[in-house]
Amino acid sequence: MPEIDRRDFLKIAGLTAGAAAVACKEPVHNIFPYVHQPEEVTPGIATYYNSMCRECPDGCGIRVKTREGRPIKIDGNPEHPISKGRLCVRGEFGHMRTYDSARFAGPMKSATDASGAKSLVKISWDEAQGLFVDALKKSAGKAVFLGGRESGTLDALLDQVLPAIGAPHRLRFEPYAYESLRSGNQLVFGSEAVPQFRIGAADVLVAFGTDFIETWLSPLANQIGLADSRREGKGFAVFVGPRLGLSAANCDQWLAPNPGSEALVAIALASEVAQRRGGAPEALRGLLAKYSAKSVAEKTGILAPTLEGVADRIAKASAPLALPPGVELQGTNAARFAAAVQILNVVSGALGKTVVFGADHTLGKLGRFQELSELAGKMRGGEVGLLMVHGANPAYSAPQVGLADALRSGNVFTVSFASAPDETAQLADLILPDHTAFESWGDAEPVKGTKTLQQPTVRPLFDTRAARTSPPAASATCSSRPGAAARASTRRWRAAASGRSFPRAAHRSRAAPARSTSRSPRSRGTPPIRCWSSTRHTISTTAGCRA
Ligand code: SF4
Repeated sequence: MPEIDRRDFLKIAGLTAGAAAVACKEPVHNIFPYVHQPEEVTPGIATYYNSMCRECPDGCGIRVKTREGRPIKIDGNPEHPISKGRLCVRGEFGHMRTYDSARFAGPMKSATDASGAKSLVKISWDEAQGLFVDALKKSAGKAVFLGGRESGTLDALLDQVLPAIGAPHRLRFEPYAYESLRSGNQLVFGSEAVPQFRIGAADVLVAFGTDFIETWLSPLANQIGLADSRREGKGFAVFVGPRLGLSAANCDQWLAPNPGSEALVAIALASEVAQRRGGAPEALRGLLAKYSAKSVAEKTGILAPTLEGVADRIAKASAPLALPPGVELQGTNAARFAAAVQILNVVSGALGKTVVFGADHTLGKLGRFQELSELAGKMRGGEVGLLMVHGANPAYSAPQVGLADALRSGNVFTVSFASAPDETAQLADLILPDHTAFESWGDAEPVKGTKTLQQPTVRPLFDTRAARTSPPAASATCSSRPGAAARASTRRWRAAASGRSFPRAAHRSRAAPARSTSRSPRSRGTPPIRCWSSTRHTISTTAGCRA
């Protein structure tokens, strides 16, 4: 064996050590203190922001506790008319979406490798915007925007921008769009409007398979209402339905009629209450008379005395309330079932007391399931060239319409604005990731007259962009009046805020987002509350959001 020269040995050893050092290098994590500390930030002391929960379309007011520019705890805003200082469990963990390690770190496009397998690869925003604009131009007039239940400025902005970029077709999709309730209201009241059901004001509540505690209409307001109605031992609640779920378990009485006969129970109760109370039109009482508790007992499996007992309670109540069917009692006769429950509300005198029209839920624009099914058919048939998906995941929540197959067919170029992977985004050709609700501005009007603002509480953690800027940016390329719609929308937002603080805050946010907007020196010593609007404003994230 030849001898190793000492110099060669040292060279080899040196190179090996260098290679090992490179291979074993620890990842570097820099912790930068506030070398230039923002004037309003005191490290170690929490800063609070009022904002809005976007975990469901209900838009509850929240109060976000932040430490050194990071949201760490969410609570309800005590001055918000929907949340009243409370929060549901989804809202409690809303900020964890922002910290989701699986989030899209930037724009992505679908690419096929040598083996034919598809995957998403990272691209720049310039390339992504170029691909988006190209797709818009190619599919002018054949582009569809599939969104969720938006009700604020973004909703109005999309209405203005989409026709300008050659995408006049828009579908607002929510898995449960209260279609039967809207149709039932049309049958009874001649209007599809969904009124307020004031559970908190009711002394006798009858829920017909309504999962009002879990997810129906405004779950947090319903929970608060139920607690209010039961205060000091008052209130009585009955659940009519096959499942002993959370809502049923929180009622005083559970009736489980034969499956499919629940609507008959509602009509029988209306009949018995009409007899006891009077006041209902003679013709209606005549029609209801043949559905007495005794006559439906065999079909429903509920003994007549039991039904009569519930009818007694309703007839004697000063503020009774019957809740139309929820998800678990949907079927081919769901609209007539909802109409039967509303008839019970009419004859019991609930209308105007606990069922109040006026400040209606903003559900009217939601697309019907049939429309989603038609969209999937058009996609398969090549009638749609571009699909933009924002705030909806129909490949998961409506698998029966075959939208996922239509996306896989290759007939449609799909753009997703999801901030994290979901079943629909996985099938998209282009991802333009949106900020999360904790990183961006926004607003909503879940109930007519109740407007709530959402503000960022943290700098965007990834290379994402607010979805409300992407279509307007495209309109700047496609439209003859670039950016006009976006400017008009911003004016609308400011006009809606109608005060001095909000525009100033919005301006400030653009200059120096979340981390530097912090506690006021004046409030040193007490937990500061960020109020973006003064008490005289008609819109507030803090006090009296009723416009
Ligand atoms: S009910 Fe309110 S707190 Fe709960 S997820 Fe919906 S908006 Fe958030």
